[in-house]
Amino acid sequence: MTDLSKIIPITDTLQRPLSDLRISVTDRCNLRCTYCMPREVFDKNHVFLPRAELLSFEEIERLAKSFIGLGVQKIRLTGGEPLLRRNIEQLIAMLAKLSTPAGKPVEITLTTNAVLLSRQAQSLKDAGLARLSVSLDGLSDETFSRMSDSAVPVKTVLDGIAAAQRVGFAPVKVNMVVKRGVNDHEIIPMAEHFRNSGIVLRFIEYMDVGSTNGWRMDEVVTAREILERIAAHYPIRQVDPNYTGEVAERWGYADGGGEIGVIASITQAFCQTCTRARLSTDGKLYTCLFATHGADLRSPLREGATGPALTKLIADHWLQRNDRYSQLRQAATESGSTVAPSTKKIEMSYIGG
Ligand code: SAM
Ligand code: SF4
Ligand code: SF4
Repeated sequence: MTDLSKIIPITDTLQRPLSDLRISVTDRCNLRCTYCMPREVFDKNHVFLPRAELLSFEEIERLAKSFIGLGVQKIRLTGGEPLLRRNIEQLIAMLAKLSTPAGKPVEITLTTNAVLLSRQAQSLKDAGLARLSVSLDGLSDETFSRMSDSAVPVKTVLDGIAAAQRVGFAPVKVNMVVKRGVNDHEIIPMAEHFRNSGIVLRFIEYMDVGSTNGWRMDEVVTAREILERIAAHYPIRQVDPNYTGEVAERWGYADGGGEIGVIASITQAFCQTCTRARLSTDGKLYTCLFATHGADLRSPLREGATGPALTKLIADHWLQRNDRYSQLRQAATESGSTVAPSTKKIEMSYIGG
């Protein structure tokens, strides 16, 4: 058997190391964002995973240890809505104790819609959560309800963000997915609102993830256009990335009003530096957001596989990885053709956004 400790961090066929892990802790959500869980599909007849199918916290911890053994340094908890998973702070506390083979603590982060954040911010902080990203697609209740297909007031989300800042998360990042004709008129109000607030606002190009959101290229507002619209109001300057392969392009207000970012998943694919693995709610390993197939880790786990055996299973998948969907789609779009999705793509709420 290959001695894995000699090839850490493990790299795939395109020389990309395995350094980030996203874990979907639930496939359920208290919102129905039209671009993620459209209500026509995720309605009251939709069958979510039964409890027995979900990985337990102990199972997640065991798999996390294997991933860390192969090079993972950051773990992001996501979903679905991760704050709906009961006792999520216990899982955070378990993961926050883990360290890399070099003895460095593993960074635990979480992405949430913040509907339940006000009451949970303190316990998340106390459990050892390092960073927090909040999704918010508009400031007016009307826009927010069109995007999230819910009656939740924006104030609930803003209160959650304020609670996160109060308990010491810094900087809180706010992510806004931009859909032309639906919420792009809120780009400037959002920029204005979060300027000088210590919050980093990041605009995300609407992506063709999953197969239920009816994605169309003409609904994408490109990162370039977003930056141009902001620059017409406030002078901005590009800022160096925090680290190589950072997904968001960083920009700062020239007057010192803080930082914004753009995530150009559609127009500037970042597959070349993609170091992310995803673990679905029921324990499947996906090596790309646009994957059609995941490797079952839960069965061997429940059948008694040892830690080294699980590590080897994960390593074998990463060593064979050649995913670069966005890069191929971008090339196809630029040449006027389309990338035909071979089979049904996996939904983001299940695979973990
Ligand atoms: N429920 C949590 C939330 O909304 O923050 C975590 C899960 S959600 C799937 C993670 C992120 O994926 C959110 O920021 C959401 O806006 C983003 N997302 C979902 N579908 C998307 C799409 N089609 N295009 C771009 N971003 C998307
Ligand atoms: Fe829920 Fe997040 Fe998807 Fe919106 S983006 S439906 S909040 S999982
Ligand atoms: Fe990574 Fe796949 Fe997205 Fe490319 S398309 S950046 S490989 S998740």
